[in-house]
Amino acid sequence: MPDELLSRLRRFNTDFFPQYQDRFKDLVEQGQHPTTLFIGCSDSRLVPYMLTGAGPGELFLVRNVAAFVPPYDGSAGHHGTAAAIEYAVLALNVQHIIVCGHSHCGGIRALYGEVPDEASNLKAWLELGREACLPVQLSDEALHRTEERSVVLQLERLMDYPMVRSRVERGELALHGWHYVIEAGEVNVFDVHQGRFVPASSSEHSGTGPYSLTPVHDGVSPIFNEIDEAWRPR
Ligand SMILES: [Zn+2]
Repeated sequence: MPDELLSRLRRFNTDFFPQYQDRFKDLVEQGQHPTTLFIGCSDSRLVPYMLTGAGPGELFLVRNVAAFVPPYDGSAGHHGTAAAIEYAVLALNVQHIIVCGHSHCGGIRALYGEVPDEASNLKAWLELGREACLPVQLSDEALHRTEERSVVLQLERLMDYPMVRSRVERGELALHGWHYVIEAGEVNVFDVHQGRFVPASSSEHSGTGPYSLTPVHDGVSPIFNEIDEAWRPR
């Protein structure tokens, strides 16, 4: 049986690497200085380098099921993504954090269905999106809205990380919420002032917020309510 992966590794070495050899040499000698932490869903159809036109050394990437951000308080079993956030902000001094969800997300869809008991880690992980769920029957529209709401929910959770919040408040760090619509080839970016997602093609910026300094009441933030109320079943 031909070893397809081995062929690809060899192609990388012979065809791709020579074009970027100098760049990789610099990145080794001077170390990495990515300006952006990209937290994206693991979905194979989401290709961060294609979306952003980034090359080697430009994105510090974290990918997980549904692009969730675990709570800062360090719940057991959720350390990987939290550790990457701390490292990106404290050691790499990134200036942007993108949370990127997408259409047809299996992780978000699973919030409306059953997860096998055997997938106990997945079951626990999905709870990080529970608050984004809508009290309606699953439909294409509801899934789309839940995907967007989840992105905002994760941005809010990011603001619970002290090193994130302090830098955002000082204007040293920007948070961006993105929802990638696979079939349209377009990213909708969250606009905190409008409380909704706006197509990148007509947006004046690459996403803002939430930057609200209003304290959270009863575990519900004003920004999240805003997008909640903006949703109307069609
Ligand atoms: Zn997904």
